[in-house]
Amino acid sequence: MVAPAQFLDYVDANSTKFIDRLAEAVAIPSISGDAQRREDVFAMARWLRAELDKFGVTTDAIPLGTQHIEGQVLALPPAIVGRIGEDAEKKTVLVYGHFDVQPANVSDGWNTDPFKLVLDKDTGKMFGRGSTDDKGPIMGWLNVLEAHHKLGLPLPVNMRFCFEGMEESGSEGLDDFIASEAKKGADGWFGGVDCVCISDNYWLNDRTPALTYGLRGLTYFNIVISGPGADLHSGIFGGAVFEPMTALVALLGKLVTQDGHILIPGVYDGIKAADDEELRIYNSLDYSVADLEAAAGGHIAVSDDKATVIMARMRNPSLSIHGIEGAFSGVGAKTVIPATVGGKFSLRLVPPQQPDDIRAKVEKYLTEEFAKLNTKSSMKIEYLHGGIPWVADHKHWNYQAAKNATEAVYLKSPDFTREGGSIPVTLTFAENLGVNVLLLPMGRGDDGAHSTNEKLDVSNYLQGTKLLGSYLYEVAEITGTKA
Ligand SMILES: [Zn+2]
Repeated sequence: MVAPAQFLDYVDANSTKFIDRLAEAVAIPSISGDAQRREDVFAMARWLRAELDKFGVTTDAIPLGTQHIEGQVLALPPAIVGRIGEDAEKKTVLVYGHFDVQPANVSDGWNTDPFKLVLDKDTGKMFGRGSTDDKGPIMGWLNVLEAHHKLGLPLPVNMRFCFEGMEESGSEGLDDFIASEAKKGADGWFGGVDCVCISDNYWLNDRTPALTYGLRGLTYFNIVISGPGADLHSGIFGGAVFEPMTALVALLGKLVTQDGHILIPGVYDGIKAADDEELRIYNSLDYSVADLEAAAGGHIAVSDDKATVIMARMRNPSLSIHGIEGAFSGVGAKTVIPATVGGKFSLRLVPPQQPDDIRAKVEKYLTEEFAKLNTKSSMKIEYLHGGIPWVADHKHWNYQAAKNATEAVYLKSPDFTREGGSIPVTLTFAENLGVNVLLLPMGRGDDGAHSTNEKLDVSNYLQGTKLLGSYLYEVAEITGTKA
């Protein structure tokens, strides 16, 4: 353990105060997706900035412009940026987090008020919206700052902070800010940054800490098929007209096999098979097919082989069909022929797949397959959303420092994981700053981020605070820049 005992003891001695800090943050319903709550996101930004100021961080609130939502123009919440430490001999670590949260209502199925942090003393779980995503980790950094400030301990690295309030709503405004700051070089808020640390994802399970070095990308499509001028009655028109739904179902059926193999020509181009070293990582993960099936709530894994299932989740592309718009649903037996239907599906991407290239392949394939249907309906392909996949060098000192810190705090080696989903800001930092980005999760796989009864375990919060602090010391140690 290279973190000083004083720091670790401070965390133990101040656990109640740290939990109170998280409770204060959770009590501010900073829901970025709800126009009615926009003022609360601003309040959360002010609260966070005041906390940083208390511990000697130089801060600013960066306006990010406006957005159009629900017919009104709303100001975007500011990014809260900060800096502490200007020692040229030390490494400079940039920390990212988001202080906005997903919507939550008791009526969604919460057992408690989502905006009141409730500690269950028997299980050691703290329930509340944002407890784990992402207020807990941000409070972890504040706890680290408080400990060093109160103890008069110098931080082992220079720190830079970038906290945003729109992550749950597409990070509007943030990419432009990061890009323009990066262009300012040494004069910008991110000048001199040597590495980035993001705590906004989760362990694979509820047992073993994780470091995450990859994220899948995304392309999202909507196939819209139209024919009749209005919805028709099947008793009058059934059999006499080409039906859009019939064409849509046929097309959706040509995208992917039952066990997940994507049928679009060329989508797998360039993807390398896993070598022995990579396979060793998957086989050594503290994760099983049973874990996946327990999380999925059914005996439905595509294989009984651990590595196969883990690779399907983390490092291979996938295609999922999400929904059909315009179709009849509901009770009864309505005999409608829908006039226009839309089928939504998306692909999760892995390097070296690129959204633009995949988009072209998907559109070409659908156009050809649609022509083969020989229908008089018409088809339009809408491209809704795209994101690039990301993989970091997990042998970089940034990861080794986090591994050493994890072993020191948790007394076990972390799982090296790749996530099936995406955290777009990861790529924004990696591309604009050109430095290694580490995903260092605080919470467990069963925390229920975005879900009802979101929670963070007290032990993850306090051990996580120690982990974040220890990581900074390990960065200094491993790079030989210790003060
Ligand atoms: Zn998050």
